Amino acid sequence: MTAQVIDGKAFAATVRAKVAAQVATLRQTAGIIPGLAVVLVGQDPASQVYVNSKGKQTVEVGMASFEHKLPADTSQAALLAIIAALNGDPSVHGILVQLPLPAHLDCDLVINAINPAKDVDGFHISNVGLLGTGQKAMVPCTPLGCLMLLRNLHGSLAGMDAVVVGRSNIVGKPMANLLLADNCTVTIAHSRTRDLPGVIARADIVVAAVGRPGFVRGAWIKPGATVIDVGINRIERDGKTVLVGDVDFAGAAAVAGAITPVPGGVGPMTIACLLANTLIACARAHGLPEPEGLTA
Ligand code: NAP
Repeated sequence: MTAQVIDGKAFAATVRAKVAAQVATLRQTAGIIPGLAVVLVGQDPASQVYVNSKGKQTVEVGMASFEHKLPADTSQAALLAIIAALNGDPSVHGILVQLPLPAHLDCDLVINAINPAKDVDGFHISNVGLLGTGQKAMVPCTPLGCLMLLRNLHGSLAGMDAVVVGRSNIVGKPMANLLLADNCTVTIAHSRTRDLPGVIARADIVVAAVGRPGFVRGAWIKPGATVIDVGINRIERDGKTVLVGDVDFAGAAAVAGAITPVPGGVGPMTIACLLANTLIACARAHGLPEPEGLTA
Protein backbone atom coordinates (compact mmCIF):
# COMPACT_ATOMS: atom_id res chain seq x y z
CA MET A 1 0.00 0.00 0.00
CA THR A 2 1.14 3.53 -0.67
CA ALA A 3 -0.42 6.05 1.66
CA GLN A 4 -2.32 9.14 0.67
CA VAL A 5 -0.10 12.08 1.58
CA ILE A 6 -2.15 14.61 3.57
CA ASP A 7 -1.48 18.09 2.22
CA GLY A 8 -1.45 20.22 5.37
CA LYS A 9 0.01 23.15 3.47
CA ALA A 10 -2.98 23.35 1.12
CA PHE A 11 -5.50 22.76 3.93
CA ALA A 12 -3.87 25.48 6.06
CA ALA A 13 -4.14 27.89 3.11
CA THR A 14 -7.92 27.31 3.02
CA VAL A 15 -8.15 28.00 6.77
CA ARG A 16 -6.14 31.23 6.40
CA ALA A 17 -8.36 32.31 3.50
CA LYS A 18 -11.48 31.80 5.66
CA VAL A 19 -9.85 33.78 8.49
CA ALA A 20 -8.88 36.58 6.08
CA ALA A 21 -12.43 36.80 4.72
CA GLN A 22 -13.93 37.05 8.22
CA VAL A 23 -11.30 39.60 9.30
CA ALA A 24 -12.20 41.74 6.28
CA THR A 25 -15.91 41.55 7.17
CA LEU A 26 -15.17 42.47 10.79
CA ARG A 27 -13.14 45.45 9.69
CA GLN A 28 -15.81 46.67 7.23
CA THR A 29 -18.89 46.09 9.36
CA ALA A 30 -17.62 46.90 12.85
CA GLY A 31 -14.28 48.70 12.32
CA ILE A 32 -12.56 46.04 14.44
CA ILE A 33 -9.07 44.76 13.62
CA PRO A 34 -8.04 41.58 15.46
CA GLY A 35 -4.57 41.93 17.00
CA LEU A 36 -2.01 39.25 17.89
CA ALA A 37 0.97 39.97 20.14
CA VAL A 38 3.93 37.61 20.07
CA VAL A 39 6.59 37.77 22.78
CA LEU A 40 10.01 36.26 22.09
CA VAL A 41 12.70 36.17 24.76
CA GLY A 42 16.23 35.47 23.52
CA GLN A 43 17.72 34.56 20.15
CA ASP A 44 16.89 30.87 19.67
CA PRO A 45 17.19 30.51 15.86
CA ALA A 46 14.20 28.16 15.42
CA SER A 47 12.01 30.40 17.61
CA GLN A 48 13.04 33.45 15.59
CA VAL A 49 11.98 31.70 12.37
CA TYR A 50 8.60 30.75 13.89
CA VAL A 51 7.98 34.25 15.27
CA ASN A 52 8.83 35.91 11.94
CA SER A 53 6.56 33.50 10.11
CA LYS A 54 3.70 34.13 12.57
CA GLY A 55 4.09 37.91 12.19
CA LYS A 56 4.09 37.69 8.39
CA GLN A 57 1.01 35.46 8.22
CA THR A 58 -0.84 37.59 10.80
CA VAL A 59 -0.44 40.65 8.58
CA GLU A 60 -1.35 38.65 5.45
CA VAL A 61 -4.81 37.81 6.86
CA GLY A 62 -5.41 41.47 7.68
CA MET A 63 -4.76 41.37 11.43
CA ALA A 64 -2.52 43.65 13.46
CA SER A 65 0.78 42.06 14.53
CA PHE A 66 2.62 43.26 17.65
CA GLU A 67 6.08 41.77 18.17
CA HIS A 68 8.01 42.05 21.41
CA LYS A 69 11.55 40.74 20.94
CA LEU A 70 13.30 40.83 24.30
CA PRO A 71 16.92 40.10 25.27
CA ALA A 72 17.75 36.65 26.68
CA ASP A 73 18.50 38.13 30.12
CA THR A 74 15.04 39.74 30.47
CA SER A 75 13.94 39.44 34.09
CA GLN A 76 10.79 37.66 35.12
CA ALA A 77 9.38 40.91 36.51
CA ALA A 78 9.98 42.71 33.20
CA LEU A 79 8.34 39.90 31.22
CA LEU A 80 5.33 39.82 33.56
CA ALA A 81 5.00 43.60 33.22
CA ILE A 82 4.83 43.27 29.42
CA ILE A 83 2.19 40.55 29.69
CA ALA A 84 0.17 42.71 32.09
CA ALA A 85 0.33 45.58 29.60
CA LEU A 86 -0.81 43.30 26.74
CA ASN A 87 -3.62 41.91 28.93
CA GLY A 88 -4.87 45.46 29.38
CA ASP A 89 -4.45 46.58 25.77
CA PRO A 90 -7.82 46.47 23.93
CA SER A 91 -6.13 46.33 20.51
CA VAL A 92 -4.50 43.00 21.49
CA HIS A 93 -6.91 40.04 21.32
CA GLY A 94 -4.34 37.23 21.34
CA ILE A 95 -1.07 36.87 23.28
CA LEU A 96 1.52 34.21 22.53
CA VAL A 97 4.74 33.76 24.47
CA GLN A 98 7.14 31.79 22.27
CA LEU A 99 8.46 28.67 24.02
CA PRO A 100 10.91 27.51 25.17
CA LEU A 101 11.79 30.38 27.50
CA PRO A 102 15.33 30.84 28.83
CA ALA A 103 15.94 28.64 31.89
CA HIS A 104 15.87 31.49 34.45
CA LEU A 105 12.21 32.21 33.64
CA ASP A 106 9.32 30.26 35.21
CA CYS A 107 7.35 29.12 32.17
CA ASP A 108 4.21 28.09 34.11
CA LEU A 109 4.09 31.40 35.97
CA VAL A 110 4.51 33.37 32.75
CA ILE A 111 1.87 31.42 30.79
CA ASN A 112 -0.60 31.61 33.67
CA ALA A 113 -0.14 35.39 33.80
CA ILE A 114 -1.78 35.71 30.37
CA ASN A 115 -5.46 36.63 30.42
CA PRO A 116 -7.07 33.23 29.56
CA ALA A 117 -9.40 34.98 27.08
CA LYS A 118 -6.29 36.16 25.16
CA ASP A 119 -4.39 32.87 25.56
CA VAL A 120 -4.50 31.88 21.88
CA ASP A 121 -2.00 29.06 22.47
CA GLY A 122 -4.45 27.46 24.92
CA PHE A 123 -1.71 26.72 27.48
CA HIS A 124 -3.16 28.68 30.44
CA ILE A 125 -4.31 26.38 33.22
CA SER A 126 -7.90 27.67 32.81
CA ASN A 127 -7.99 26.68 29.16
CA VAL A 128 -6.39 23.31 29.93
CA GLY A 129 -9.14 22.69 32.50
CA LEU A 130 -11.90 23.85 30.18
CA LEU A 131 -10.66 21.56 27.39
CA GLY A 132 -10.28 18.62 29.79
CA THR A 133 -13.85 19.04 31.01
CA GLY A 134 -15.36 19.48 27.56
CA GLN A 135 -16.12 23.19 27.95
CA LYS A 136 -15.51 26.03 25.50
CA ALA A 137 -11.78 26.71 25.61
CA MET A 138 -8.95 28.21 23.61
CA VAL A 139 -7.58 25.01 22.09
CA PRO A 140 -3.80 24.53 21.58
CA CYS A 141 -3.00 25.19 17.93
CA THR A 142 -0.91 22.14 16.95
CA PRO A 143 -3.31 19.47 18.26
CA LEU A 144 -6.25 21.46 16.90
CA GLY A 145 -4.58 21.45 13.48
CA CYS A 146 -4.06 17.68 13.70
CA LEU A 147 -7.71 17.16 14.63
CA MET A 148 -8.87 19.26 11.69
CA LEU A 149 -6.78 17.19 9.28
CA LEU A 150 -8.21 13.99 10.75
CA ARG A 151 -11.82 15.21 10.57
CA ASN A 152 -11.29 16.40 7.02
CA LEU A 153 -10.02 12.96 6.05
CA HIS A 154 -12.42 10.74 7.98
CA GLY A 155 -15.48 12.82 8.84
CA SER A 156 -16.45 11.19 12.14
CA LEU A 157 -13.63 9.72 14.28
CA ALA A 158 -16.11 7.95 16.59
CA GLY A 159 -14.98 4.54 17.77
CA MET A 160 -11.52 4.71 16.20
CA ASP A 161 -8.51 3.50 18.19
CA ALA A 162 -6.07 6.42 18.53
CA VAL A 163 -2.55 6.28 19.95
CA VAL A 164 -0.80 9.52 20.82
CA VAL A 165 2.94 9.04 21.29
CA GLY A 166 4.13 11.80 23.62
CA ARG A 167 2.48 13.37 26.68
CA SER A 168 3.67 16.97 26.60
CA ASN A 169 1.35 19.73 27.77
CA ILE A 170 1.56 21.48 24.40
CA VAL A 171 0.89 18.53 22.07
CA GLY A 172 0.34 15.04 23.51
CA LYS A 173 -2.10 15.71 26.35
CA PRO A 174 -4.37 18.20 24.54
CA MET A 175 -4.28 15.96 21.45
CA ALA A 176 -5.52 13.06 23.54
CA ASN A 177 -8.29 15.22 25.05
CA LEU A 178 -9.44 16.34 21.60
CA LEU A 179 -9.50 12.79 20.24
CA LEU A 180 -11.41 11.64 23.32
CA ALA A 181 -13.95 14.44 22.82
CA ASP A 182 -14.34 13.17 19.23
CA ASN A 183 -15.17 9.72 20.64
CA CYS A 184 -11.93 7.91 19.84
CA THR A 185 -10.62 5.25 22.19
CA VAL A 186 -7.38 6.94 23.20
CA THR A 187 -4.05 5.61 24.44
CA ILE A 188 -1.26 8.00 25.43
CA ALA A 189 2.18 6.43 25.04
CA HIS A 190 5.43 7.84 26.45
CA SER A 191 9.01 6.90 27.22
CA ARG A 192 7.97 4.36 29.89
CA THR A 193 5.38 2.62 27.70
CA ARG A 194 5.98 -1.12 27.45
CA ASP A 195 5.86 -2.65 23.97
CA LEU A 196 5.31 0.56 22.04
CA PRO A 197 5.27 -1.31 18.69
CA GLY A 198 2.45 -3.52 20.04
CA VAL A 199 0.50 -0.46 21.24
CA ILE A 200 0.87 1.31 17.90
CA ALA A 201 0.00 -1.85 15.95
CA ARG A 202 -3.65 -1.70 17.03
CA ALA A 203 -4.16 2.00 16.26
CA ASP A 204 -6.39 3.33 13.50
CA ILE A 205 -4.85 6.75 14.17
CA VAL A 206 -1.24 7.33 15.25
CA VAL A 207 -0.17 10.82 16.33
CA ALA A 208 3.60 11.04 16.85
CA ALA A 209 4.85 13.93 19.03
CA VAL A 210 8.14 12.59 20.35
CA GLY A 211 10.95 14.87 19.16
CA ARG A 212 13.06 12.01 17.76
CA PRO A 213 13.76 11.82 14.03
CA GLY A 214 12.17 8.82 12.30
CA PHE A 215 11.36 7.20 15.65
CA VAL A 216 8.05 5.50 14.69
CA ARG A 217 8.84 2.67 12.28
CA GLY A 218 6.70 1.61 9.34
CA ALA A 219 6.66 -1.98 10.61
CA TRP A 220 4.80 -0.87 13.77
CA ILE A 221 1.86 0.61 11.87
CA LYS A 222 -1.39 -1.20 11.16
CA PRO A 223 -2.03 -1.42 7.41
CA GLY A 224 -4.38 1.38 6.38
CA ALA A 225 -3.93 3.45 9.56
CA THR A 226 -3.74 7.24 9.49
CA VAL A 227 -0.41 8.67 10.68
CA ILE A 228 -0.10 12.27 11.88
CA ASP A 229 3.53 13.29 12.31
CA VAL A 230 3.91 16.30 14.60
CA GLY A 231 7.69 16.07 14.89
CA ILE A 232 9.95 18.80 13.58
CA ASN A 233 13.56 17.68 13.83
CA ARG A 234 16.54 19.35 12.17
CA ILE A 235 19.12 16.81 11.00
CA GLU A 236 22.21 16.92 8.78
CA ARG A 237 21.82 14.99 5.52
CA ASP A 238 24.32 15.12 2.66
CA GLY A 239 25.91 18.21 4.21
CA LYS A 240 22.61 20.08 4.45
CA THR A 241 20.24 20.75 7.34
CA VAL A 242 16.85 19.20 6.59
CA LEU A 243 13.57 18.90 8.52
CA VAL A 244 12.26 15.42 9.30
CA GLY A 245 9.39 14.17 11.42
CA ASP A 246 9.12 11.66 14.25
CA VAL A 247 7.97 8.96 11.81
CA ASP A 248 10.06 7.00 9.30
CA PHE A 249 8.13 8.50 6.40
CA ALA A 250 9.14 6.06 3.65
CA GLY A 251 8.53 2.99 5.82
CA ALA A 252 5.22 4.27 7.17
CA ALA A 253 3.94 5.50 3.80
CA ALA A 254 4.32 1.96 2.45
CA VAL A 255 1.87 0.64 5.07
CA ALA A 256 -0.40 3.47 6.21
CA GLY A 257 -3.63 4.59 4.55
CA ALA A 258 -2.75 8.26 4.94
CA ILE A 259 0.19 10.19 6.37
CA THR A 260 1.28 13.79 6.93
CA PRO A 261 4.66 14.77 5.46
CA VAL A 262 7.30 16.85 7.23
CA PRO A 263 7.50 19.60 6.21
CA GLY A 264 4.09 20.47 4.74
CA GLY A 265 1.83 18.48 7.07
CA VAL A 266 1.03 19.57 10.62
CA GLY A 267 3.42 22.57 10.70
CA PRO A 268 1.40 24.94 8.48
CA MET A 269 -1.79 24.03 10.37
CA THR A 270 -0.32 25.33 13.63
CA ILE A 271 -0.08 28.95 12.46
CA ALA A 272 -3.41 28.75 10.63
CA CYS A 273 -5.06 27.65 13.89
CA LEU A 274 -3.26 30.42 15.79
CA LEU A 275 -4.83 32.97 13.44
CA ALA A 276 -8.24 31.29 13.77
CA ASN A 277 -7.93 31.36 17.57
CA THR A 278 -7.04 35.07 17.47
CA LEU A 279 -10.15 35.81 15.41
CA ILE A 280 -12.26 33.75 17.82
CA ALA A 281 -10.74 35.60 20.82
CA CYS A 282 -11.47 38.92 19.12
CA ALA A 283 -15.11 38.00 18.46
CA ARG A 284 -15.56 36.86 22.06
CA ALA A 285 -13.93 40.07 23.40
CA HIS A 286 -16.40 42.18 21.45
CA GLY A 287 -19.43 40.03 22.29
CA LEU A 288 -19.87 39.11 18.62
CA PRO A 289 -21.16 35.74 17.36
CA GLU A 290 -18.55 33.00 17.37
CA PRO A 291 -16.85 32.77 13.92
CA GLU A 292 -18.12 29.64 12.22
CA GLY A 293 -16.38 26.99 10.17
CA LEU A 294 -12.81 28.00 10.98
CA THR A 295 -11.73 25.09 13.12
CA ALA A 296 -14.34 22.45 12.33
P1 NAP B 1 8.42 17.02 24.42
O1 NAP B 1 7.84 17.99 25.38
O2 NAP B 1 9.90 16.81 24.41
O3 NAP B 1 7.71 15.62 24.66
C1 NAP B 1 8.14 14.47 23.99
C2 NAP B 1 7.32 13.30 24.45
O4 NAP B 1 7.82 12.15 23.76
C3 NAP B 1 7.42 13.02 25.95
O5 NAP B 1 6.14 12.79 26.48
C4 NAP B 1 8.28 11.78 26.02
O6 NAP B 1 7.93 10.87 27.06
C5 NAP B 1 7.98 11.10 24.70
N1 NAP B 1 9.07 10.21 24.33
C6 NAP B 1 10.39 10.49 24.30
N2 NAP B 1 11.11 9.39 23.98
C7 NAP B 1 10.21 8.39 23.85
C8 NAP B 1 10.31 7.01 23.55
N3 NAP B 1 11.51 6.44 23.36
N4 NAP B 1 9.19 6.28 23.48
C9 NAP B 1 7.98 6.85 23.68
N5 NAP B 1 7.81 8.15 23.97
C10 NAP B 1 8.92 8.91 24.05
O7 NAP B 1 8.05 17.38 22.92
P2 NAP B 1 6.81 18.22 22.31
O8 NAP B 1 6.94 19.64 22.69
O9 NAP B 1 5.54 17.50 22.59
O10 NAP B 1 7.16 18.09 20.76
C11 NAP B 1 7.23 16.85 20.11
C12 NAP B 1 7.68 17.06 18.69
O11 NAP B 1 6.72 17.87 18.02
C13 NAP B 1 9.01 17.80 18.53
O12 NAP B 1 9.68 17.30 17.39
C14 NAP B 1 8.58 19.24 18.28
O13 NAP B 1 9.54 19.98 17.54
C15 NAP B 1 7.34 19.02 17.46
N6 NAP B 1 6.36 20.11 17.51
C16 NAP B 1 5.84 20.50 16.32
C17 NAP B 1 4.89 21.49 16.28
C18 NAP B 1 4.29 21.88 14.97
O14 NAP B 1 3.83 22.98 14.79
N7 NAP B 1 4.26 20.97 14.00
C19 NAP B 1 4.48 22.11 17.46
C20 NAP B 1 5.01 21.67 18.68
C21 NAP B 1 5.96 20.65 18.68
P3 NAP B 1 8.16 11.22 28.62
O15 NAP B 1 7.05 12.17 28.97
O16 NAP B 1 8.05 9.91 29.28
O17 NAP B 1 9.52 11.85 28.72
